[in-house]
Amino acid sequence: MRPFVYEQPADISAAVAIASRFTTNDDQPTRANAQFIAGGTNLADYMKLGVAEPNRLLDLNGLKESGLRQIRVTDDGIRFGALVRMGEAADHREVKERYPVIADSLRLAASGQIRNMASLAGNILQRTRCEYFRETSWQCNKRVPGSGCAAMEGFNRQHAVLGASDACIATYHGDFAQALIALDAVVHAEGSRGERKIPFAKLHRQPGDTPHIESDLAADEIITAIEVPAIPWARRSLYLKIRDRESYAFALASAAVALDLDGETVREARIALGGVATVPWRASAAEQSLQGKKLNETSAEAAADAAFAQAQPRQHNAFKIELGKRTLVRALLETRDMEV
Ligand code: SF4
Repeated sequence: MRPFVYEQPADISAAVAIASRFTTNDDQPTRANAQFIAGGTNLADYMKLGVAEPNRLLDLNGLKESGLRQIRVTDDGIRFGALVRMGEAADHREVKERYPVIADSLRLAASGQIRNMASLAGNILQRTRCEYFRETSWQCNKRVPGSGCAAMEGFNRQHAVLGASDACIATYHGDFAQALIALDAVVHAEGSRGERKIPFAKLHRQPGDTPHIESDLAADEIITAIEVPAIPWARRSLYLKIRDRESYAFALASAAVALDLDGETVREARIALGGVATVPWRASAAEQSLQGKKLNETSAEAAADAAFAQAQPRQHNAFKIELGKRTLVRALLETRDMEV
């Protein structure tokens, strides 16, 4: 048994005040500090496994600020409250019409039960499912900094080919985040140092030498909302997810694509990749390679080559490079052919 305190703060400032009192060591954000919980679909698992050992759980579901539970559509875009459930956002009519890539990424993300429980903010902050991270008898720099990485010489079929370091090669397993990074979303956060906006591309950190520090958030900061700017041409967008089986599985490779087309010529492309990288991965080189070109099989393949030019395979995951390229080519051509 590991005792912990369970609290239900009344509002955001109370939650931040408690968190800031009981988070003292930013270098160990996941093992012993106070932690926020909403759906709990990731954190509760990791507490049972002994991967996370928070001394305090701060349940955010009773926070009084109603904006946390709302989806607001305006001329400037769409604002998702942090506590909106994945299923609600996936089924939202205007999300489906204006940003199909977002609706797809949420619909394909998990079982219906999980989508009904998991909050949007919790989803984007979900932790890796690296097998060696989940099993506490293995060495893992992310779980115990400086202890080593059993995945390097272990079975690394699920692991990342982009953004890895000598300390960690774990994949970021989320789907929604690929849509958000492709659409230049912004995260709103509130902590003891006040409110701030974080460009989505800066929210997650590549592992480098400190794989246990996964995001730019301070330990007492709460995500309050996620804002996606208005992009009229994002109606031409989709999320393609390739996995070992057709449901309830993480991506082996995925692509979030949005296209602004003039006939078949690309005015602007937005591309992000999932299942292959340590963080939500914007494929900027691929986007640039398509700009001003006719989108056909040849230009799509060139974009895919550009996307994976820096990929570094390990013993069991080299297949992800070819799979990732084919996934992106198919996603680009299917997006081009959408009727909008
Ligand atoms: Fe831990 Fe990362 Fe290595 Fe997995 S890949 S064992 S999460 S350090």
